[in-house]
Amino acid sequence: MAKKEKSGDAPLDPLFREMEQTGLHAYPNPTRQGCPEDKVLEKFAADPLAFGVGDPTFEHVTHCSPCFQFVQERRRGKQQSHLKGR
Ligand SMILES: [Zn+2]
Repeated sequence: MAKKEKSGDAPLDPLFREMEQTGLHAYPNPTRQGCPEDKVLEKFAADPLAFGVGDPTFEHVTHCSPCFQFVQERRRGKQQSHLKGR
């Protein structure tokens, strides 16, 4: 216990934070071409690690602004309802 490490609940958090800066606008996809179904996106939002970095869904979400926004909103909503529940 030499070092006190603050480990986040998910190693993906830094990636999501970076995507927030760039991804929200970097990959416009007005026609939602190639987008997974909403329920797939919801599952991704709930547990991104279940998909893995090599998964096509992961690839897509990190390269599609609408999908990334969807995931971000789901993640935020989860956090907020968690706070509200206290
Ligand atoms: Zn998409």
